[in-house]
Amino acid sequence: MNARTAFDLIFRRAATRSSDTPVDIGVSDGRIVAIASRLESQAREIDVDGRLVLPGFVDSHIHLDKACLLGRCGHDHGSVNEAIRAVAAMKRDFTVEDVYTRGARVLERAIVHGTTRMRTHVEIDPRIGLRGFEAIKALKRDYAWAMIDLSICVFPQEGLTNDPGTEQLLVAGLRDGGDLIGGCPYMDTDPMAQLEKLFDLAQAFDVDVDLHLDFDLDPSWWHLDEVLRQTERRNYQGRVAIGHASKLSALPPREFDAAAARLARAGVAVTVLPATDLYLMGRDATHNAPRGLTAAHKLVEKGVLCSVATNNVLNPFTPFGDCSLLRMANLYANVAYAGISEFDTCLDLVTGLPARLMNLRDYGIAPGNPADIIVLDTTTGRDAIAELPDVLMGFKNGRQVFERHSPVRFPPG
Ligand SMILES: [Zn+2]
Repeated sequence: MNARTAFDLIFRRAATRSSDTPVDIGVSDGRIVAIASRLESQAREIDVDGRLVLPGFVDSHIHLDKACLLGRCGHDHGSVNEAIRAVAAMKRDFTVEDVYTRGARVLERAIVHGTTRMRTHVEIDPRIGLRGFEAIKALKRDYAWAMIDLSICVFPQEGLTNDPGTEQLLVAGLRDGGDLIGGCPYMDTDPMAQLEKLFDLAQAFDVDVDLHLDFDLDPSWWHLDEVLRQTERRNYQGRVAIGHASKLSALPPREFDAAAARLARAGVAVTVLPATDLYLMGRDATHNAPRGLTAAHKLVEKGVLCSVATNNVLNPFTPFGDCSLLRMANLYANVAYAGISEFDTCLDLVTGLPARLMNLRDYGIAPGNPADIIVLDTTTGRDAIAELPDVLMGFKNGRQVFERHSPVRFPPG
C-alpha cells in the first residue's frame, strides 16, 4: 500500500500469535490500519525487536468496589460465608470517595500489568444503595484513557427476592449506566426465583448476564440446570457467563464431559477465578485438600467458552492480588496441570476468550481494531505463560499508556 503518509506510528518487528515471522504494525488515528512484513513510512517507530505483542489482557470478572480492604477488617476469614459477612459489615460504611480510591488503586496496577478491558461486578442493595455504583461510573469515566469499556455488572451479593428494595435499585442501575446484570442465587432464600427475576431484567434491558454460580464442591445439587434452561428458553446463548463453577471441579470425567457438552450447547461461558477458588475451597480437608479449581482449558477443548479472571484483590475473599492477569494465567496453568502444549490456551483464557465472553467486537491485533497493544519481554505465547515476562509497554488507541524499564545489574568492576 502507499503508506508513506498513512501512519502516525509503526511497531517494527513485532511477534504476533498469528504470524510465524515478525511483522510491522501500522497505526493511524488510534487504529491498526496495516500489518505486513515491512511497511514503508516516515512515521514514528517503535522497534520491539521480535518481542511478543498482544492486544492487552481482558479481565472478565473483578470486584473493584470491595478491593483493598485488608487492614480494615479482622483477618482469617476462612469460608465463603465469613467473607461475605465481613464485607457486608464493612460495606455499610463505604462512601463514593472510598470506593473510588480503592478501585483506582486496582485499575492503576492492572493498567501497568497490561489489562486493557475489564468487567467489574458492583454490589447493589439497600445498605450500599448506589454509592458503589456511582464510584465505579466515575472510575469508568476517569480511566477511559487507559481502559476503554470498563463494563459494569450490577448485582445483588446478599440476595434478591429476600432483600426488599434491591430489585428497584438494580433497575435504577441498569437505567443509569449498568452494562449488564449479575447475581448470586446461592445467597437467595429462593434461588430459582432469583434466576427467573435476573433473566427477566436482562431481557427487559437487553443486557447480558454474568452470575456467581456455585461456590462449594458438592456436585449432588446445583443451579446450573436452571441457568441452562433459562438461557435456552430466552434465546440467550452467547450472552450468559457463570463465575467460579467450582462444583465442576468435583465431577468425575464422565459427568464433567456431560456438563461440558451441555454448557457448550447452551452457549453458557465459564469464568474460573483461581486466586479466590484456591483460597476458599477445600478448607475442610485436614490433608490432600481438593483445590476447587475447574479445569477451564479442558472445558475449552470441549467447546465451552471460558476465561480466567482476577475476582477479588486484597479482601476477605482473597487476601492476595497484584492485578496481573498474566500471573493469574500462570497460577492457573500450574495448579490445573496444564501441559506445555496447553499453555497457549492458558494465554487465550486471559486474552481472546474473555474478549469473546464479553462480546467485544473490536478486540485483537487486526486492521480496523483500536491500536490497543502491549509488548511483552518474550517471543511466544507459550513462553509468556512459562516465564512471566515483564510487560514492557502498553498503548491504548495508539497512545502510550505506560512503560516499564528492565532491571539494571551492577556487577563488581
Ligand atoms: Zn466474583
